[in-house]
Amino acid sequence: MPWERSNDARHPLPRGAASMNAPEPLVPQACSAPPARVILRERGQREVFCGLTAIVWLHRKMQDAFFLVVGSRTCAHLMQSAAGVMIFAEPRFATAILEDRDLAGMADCNSELDRIAGQLLARRPDISTLFLVGSCPSEVIKLDLSRAAERLSAAHRGRVRVLSYSGSGIETTFTQGEDNGLKAMVRDLPELPEGQRSVLVVGTLADVVEDQFARLFAALGIGPVHFLPSRRATDLPPVGRGTLILPAQPFVGDTVRALVARGGKLVEALYPFGAEGTTDWLTCAARAWGVPDAHVASVVAAPEARARLALARAAAPLGGKRMSLMPDSQLEIPLARFLQRECGVQLVEVGVPYLDRQMVGREMGQLPDDVRLSEGQHLDRQLDRVRADRPDLTVCGLGLANPLEAERLRTKWSIELLFTPIHGYEQAADLAELFVRPLERERRLGV
Ligand code: SF4
Repeated sequence: MPWERSNDARHPLPRGAASMNAPEPLVPQACSAPPARVILRERGQREVFCGLTAIVWLHRKMQDAFFLVVGSRTCAHLMQSAAGVMIFAEPRFATAILEDRDLAGMADCNSELDRIAGQLLARRPDISTLFLVGSCPSEVIKLDLSRAAERLSAAHRGRVRVLSYSGSGIETTFTQGEDNGLKAMVRDLPELPEGQRSVLVVGTLADVVEDQFARLFAALGIGPVHFLPSRRATDLPPVGRGTLILPAQPFVGDTVRALVARGGKLVEALYPFGAEGTTDWLTCAARAWGVPDAHVASVVAAPEARARLALARAAAPLGGKRMSLMPDSQLEIPLARFLQRECGVQLVEVGVPYLDRQMVGREMGQLPDDVRLSEGQHLDRQLDRVRADRPDLTVCGLGLANPLEAERLRTKWSIELLFTPIHGYEQAADLAELFVRPLERERRLGV
């Protein structure tokens, strides 16, 4: 996996434990405005998956899309182990492997790529959108995949749409793979006619969650509501001056900015994690649409009450537990808010790979002042802090879990949060249970 070294830009921060006070009730007033806060900024060795990993959930969502990674055998191995070996299904991802001759500039990579894409499209008539996904090796040899995508689109016009984006691990974290993939689609979205309105939910949601939200929006009187990505990559939602952009994931910032550049208006809200986050997300969208608060309250009352009841049971073992979240998925700040406010967790450190204030400003405002917030990664220092803090649970990448477990520090793999439906009222208790499980295993094993 890639890593970088550069000078430190560290700021001193209080290292005290987080507040155990009961959370103040959230009053979703103006749906915006973060306060200033001191942040520990780190640069150094990183330990995260690369953006190729996002193909695992993107290809499950867009059932007519194919992802062709242009990379090395390492990339192929990563994809194979991250997604599992698909024996019974025709897989919808593959790796065009760059050999030594390609890397040495002795072969014409573009003609090879055209040949492979042609073979693939001839064999798979079900593919309507082909994503060429760049990797570290293709970036290093400066293979221009955007031009390759244009060339292939022209060669197969009417048959398939070819897009490109980078999933390279150089300077990116794994959820940026989704952001890059969605951003590549924005250019082709049709224009929403002037005078019309719509909501566009951005970020991959499990189908079951998408259906739940669609029902809630319908009950609120909001529509049409589109989702990016949708189940078929060819179903391109319109965007224009009448589009409200509602992010469902905090890591789709570049896609959101591309949509805003197309005229859309960003709705700032908490993310729909937990009962509180889901209500805030729906409320902010409803206010931007012009729905009265009283109507929102009547629509969300029953599902929110159900979620709170289920959460009270599921999250009970988390009460008072000390937790650190290491920078990995970009979900850390919204999850920390959920864990602290709805599960009674005592936050020790919350780290993010990069801080996108436009995307998490409102979330940051909900974190207690004494939580240590860090941006970027210096792996050794971060591990030293975890060892000194000895939290009850550390949310981290796969590569760090085993070493920490060996030191009798309980861990939760953050990548699971991308593979599991965790958004919305009906999943609030499931989300809490994901964090309970390692603690419960520890209790049962007595380790
Ligand atoms: Fe490794 Fe880079 Fe390929 Fe990802 S894209 S598997 S980091 S070589």
